[in-house]
Amino acid sequence: MHQKTVLILGGGVGGLITANVLSKSIGKNHRIILIDRDKQYAFAPSFPWLATGVRKPEKICKDLNALKKKRIEFVEGEITEINAEKKTVEVNGKVISGDIMVLAMGADLVPDSVNGLEGMGHNFYSLEGSKNLRDSLKNFHGGDLVVLITSLPYKCPAAPYEMAMLLEYYCRKRKIRDKVNISMYAAEPGPMGVAGKELSGAVRQIVESKGIQYFPEHQLEKINAVEKSLHFTNGHEAHVDLLAYVPTHKVPDVVKSAGLTGESGWVQVDRNTLETKFSNIFAIGDITGISLALGKPLPKAGVFAHYQAEVVAHNITVDILGKGKSKSFTGDGECFIELGDGKAGFARGNFYKEPLPDVKMYKPGRHWHAGKVLFEKDWFRRWF
Ligand SMILES: Cc1cc2nc3c(=O)[nH]c(=O)nc-3n(C[C@H](O)[C@H](O)[C@H](O)COP(=O)(O)OP(=O)(O)OC[C@H]3O[C@@H](n4cnc5c(N)ncnc54)[C@H](O)[C@@H]3O)c2cc1C
Repeated sequence: MHQKTVLILGGGVGGLITANVLSKSIGKNHRIILIDRDKQYAFAPSFPWLATGVRKPEKICKDLNALKKKRIEFVEGEITEINAEKKTVEVNGKVISGDIMVLAMGADLVPDSVNGLEGMGHNFYSLEGSKNLRDSLKNFHGGDLVVLITSLPYKCPAAPYEMAMLLEYYCRKRKIRDKVNISMYAAEPGPMGVAGKELSGAVRQIVESKGIQYFPEHQLEKINAVEKSLHFTNGHEAHVDLLAYVPTHKVPDVVKSAGLTGESGWVQVDRNTLETKFSNIFAIGDITGISLALGKPLPKAGVFAHYQAEVVAHNITVDILGKGKSKSFTGDGECFIELGDGKAGFARGNFYKEPLPDVKMYKPGRHWHAGKVLFEKDWFRRWF
């Protein structure tokens, strides 16, 4: 059989799983090349634990070179050009070509989209930002603690709410809660809106029951670093002593230049097969823009990158080996939401259901928190 090369662009959630599934399914005659600018993979769902001091960075990071034992060739470097017609990429000045390409490059984070924001707060959506937040918290003894969602869309709609609730729990544990005002400013109308009004209302109620002041529909306009204040487009101002924020997300420039984006500004794909307008080029995870019937996009979340990766890897295998039945991504997803006090909530459902996604939130409890801890442990065992 003619040797095929699968190029996987990005070694985050989607790329990691695509490479793993293929390494088991396509046999030894074919090549799997995984490319990432960073050889260190970091498990983002644990960043809020890292920021609040209950995880060490080394516990949630792994070297992608470890995948070599699974016959996955890892290339460390910046992808500076993608040629979709030729199925080639340029990395470290060298051209690498493939027969099939899977784009899993996620969303680029823009920490300073509002001038000065990066200097004023901690971007807890990055490993470094979470470490810095942890260090600043140690010297924080009271004042205005703010969690901010700078703009939409952003990945993991639960994460900022988790962060706010874990910070609140952290302040109680340190016995400084009575000296801290915690508020949350969100660019969106409510938490996890795509999952439905009921779920959104339930999460908001839990957040507010912890004494966290919640300000939805607040779009950041500018900051004043001297006065330490945030200014929103609706005229509202907020003073900040310690700021944890979700930065602006954007599609990587190299993907845009390759002509792979659609009307949404993100990569346009068939919502079932994840194939782009170029045959044998697939895109999965945060980089894609998939519209739902309710007029909003499928949220950006690791769980979708994961299930999409499994579908794409399966279908590539069927194509290469010429046997088996292809599969479709169904829009199913689930997530934990940490609440503090060793408890979590859990939501699961189908986001492709029409006219509205059908998502249910289960009663919060300690068992869901234990579930997330097990999920984290299993992640490294399974994929490295
Ligand atoms: C704090 C936090 C908590 C989260 N919690 C959850 C959760 O509980 N559940 C959940 O489902 N999701 C969660 N998420 C979201 C989840 O991490 C993302 O949705 C998921 O990682 C998306 O996978 P991806 O493969 O699309 O992109 P990513 O995992 O972001 O991977 C993209 C990779 O591409 C690489 N890359 C990009 N551009 C280039 C380039 N030009 N050259 C070389 N390499 C490049 C990047 O370095 C990166 O490694 C969380 C995210 C954060 C930040």
